[in-house]
Amino acid sequence: AKSDGKGRWALFDPDRNATEVAQFHLSAKMPAALERDEFYVDYQPLIGLRDFNVVGVEALVRWAHPELGRLGPDRFIGLAEETGLIVSLGRWVLRKACLQAKQWQDEFGAAAPFVSVNLAVRQSRDPNLVSDVAEILAETGLAPSRLQLELTESAIMGTADEPLDALRALSRMGVRIAIDDFGTGYSNLAYLRHLPVHELKIAGSFMEGLRDAERADPVDARIVGTLVDLAHALGLTVTAEGVETQAQARRMADIGCETGQGYLFARPGSPEEITTFITDHLD
Ligand code: C2E
Ligand code: CA
Ligand code: CA
Repeated sequence: AKSDGKGRWALFDPDRNATEVAQFHLSAKMPAALERDEFYVDYQPLIGLRDFNVVGVEALVRWAHPELGRLGPDRFIGLAEETGLIVSLGRWVLRKACLQAKQWQDEFGAAAPFVSVNLAVRQSRDPNLVSDVAEILAETGLAPSRLQLELTESAIMGTADEPLDALRALSRMGVRIAIDDFGTGYSNLAYLRHLPVHELKIAGSFMEGLRDAERADPVDARIVGTLVDLAHALGLTVTAEGVETQAQARRMADIGCETGQGYLFARPGSPEEITTFITDHLD
């Protein structure tokens, strides 16, 4: 509702109402879309900043909507979280990504990248998470060390112990755990050392100030340097997200960041495109 300026509230805002109706239709259509295989997964390489090989690939879900065309995850992941469909959609993405990573494992052997899959908050609290992951790894034949799960700070920190127990169990299985968008959420830095985490992904927003080498923002540069040092002190590897310029890649490499991800190296692409990209970047 919107104020009409006279201290009263209008019954509805026609624009907002239209969006809400559209969103409602989208969330109502999602379960059938999952059945009909309308979702698909693109992959974006994580690049070693020293030798430019493909260390990993992040799985990013999309929806080929029959009327609206290709929809990015920002259009539907939030809705799927609200309805709870994220748990089955997330499991579908995980299986799809592990199947694909198994193909790369067979094709590239030791040089095969790990696949990094996003976990929604609701999935991290799902009591079946550990058994689902174990089952999918067994079924696909993917080595546990070739799977990484990305969770945001809010999914990992605070609240109950169960999600942490789940992460510990996954970590013992050999699965890698990464903190996604690091630096944007509420970070309890002291807490980090007790978490079964292997990698920090520094949010792309920190790359803004490092866009040009000559005009680097000193505060952003200091923050990023501190985050990398902190991660290393905790024995974690670091990926810089949203790397779009050479200056950003060079700066991150200089401060010891292991991997970079962003349009500078590659946009998210189909399995075929990424297979070609991996082949072109073998030593
Ligand atoms: P994210 O996990 O931070 O993923 C990275 C996003 O940044 C992707 O957007 C990617 O295309 C985009 N990106 C990559 N390089 C660059 C760059 O150089 N510059 C800029 N400006 N952007 C870049 P995308 O694919 O639209 O995904 C958006 C978000 O949706 C993801 O953010 C993630 O939070 C969520 N998401 C995607 N797939 C899944 C999934 O399977 N499950 C869950 N729970 N969330 C997902
Ligand atoms: Ca991510
Ligand atoms: Ca991210």
